[in-house]
Amino acid sequence: MEPLLSKGYEVHGIIRRVALEDPEHRLSRILPNLHRVHLHAASLESYASIHQVVAQVQPDECYHLAAQSFVSYSFEDEFSTLNTNINGTHFLLAAIRNVAPTCRFYFAGSSEMFGLAEEVPQTEGTRFHPRSAYGISKVTGFELTQNYREAYGIHASSGILFNHESPRRGYEFVTRKISSGVARIVAGKANALRLGNLEAQRDWGHAREYVEAMWLMLQQPEPGDYVVATGEAHSVREFAELAFACVGLDYREFVVSDAAFYRPADINLLVGDATKARAKLGWRQKTRFAELVREMVEADCRATGVGDALREMPRDAAV
Ligand code: GDP
Repeated sequence: MEPLLSKGYEVHGIIRRVALEDPEHRLSRILPNLHRVHLHAASLESYASIHQVVAQVQPDECYHLAAQSFVSYSFEDEFSTLNTNINGTHFLLAAIRNVAPTCRFYFAGSSEMFGLAEEVPQTEGTRFHPRSAYGISKVTGFELTQNYREAYGIHASSGILFNHESPRRGYEFVTRKISSGVARIVAGKANALRLGNLEAQRDWGHAREYVEAMWLMLQQPEPGDYVVATGEAHSVREFAELAFACVGLDYREFVVSDAAFYRPADINLLVGDATKARAKLGWRQKTRFAELVREMVEADCRATGVGDALREMPRDAAV
């Protein structure tokens, strides 16, 4: 929302009533900007509520980012992941078509749609082969978006975003688990960090830059689909190594690989090729991997009161 506010947009959001009643807890990450946005109580599970908000607000642009997005949960609760993610996208598109057909629509696709990818790196032309309920729900949302574009002429675009991280990442994701784990260890609140598969690799970029790509998509004369990625893969082990190095520690003394955190079916190497986004949107990735790790560890250390443990970034860390 900050990029839109800084561009002078009037920003509206939908939120479930239960979260609206408990803003301190549920909206903690956007609390400083809460007074600058208009929140409406609605649920992705109710077409009536979505229709009502879209009709009332008459948005010019709609960024559909809401979803059950944690892949691990989606194994445990396939039914609700599929229901919420697929119906939610369909409800929004249908409401736009019915009551705000000139609204431009962004759908948050995901690299998880590639899953068992047949080629590396992945482009907009790579076949989808999702490996989780989350991935399947995103492929369906992508196809719904494409269909509303082709069948009803809606300016509807999908971003196929590879993992994007920042100090606001949820604690259940491995990057934040590591950065907050480092801070807890430095603060003496923990003495080990239990992770799953350390060899798993991801193409990790900075969320702030990926949000800019979303906005650029909706400014194009024609809608389309775009891969947004850095094109570089790094392992969970590398992330941990750099994160611990930020505070002068050796990750090998603290990180334990625990089978309990392994995925039933992980995916093949996902690395995105953002050539189209660069050529058509003029989009560029700026933050390097080591800088991203550093920013996340720094934020968690400062928030935990151990900012003085931070060391200079190692010279060879400019990867
Ligand atoms: P995802 O790409 O959306 O699934 O993002 P995550 O941050 O949840 O996971 C990224 C990768 O890290 C996956 O391949 C996981 O298997 C791997 N991983 C290794 N250890 C952990 C862990 O302790 N927690 C999580 N969430 N992922 C882990």
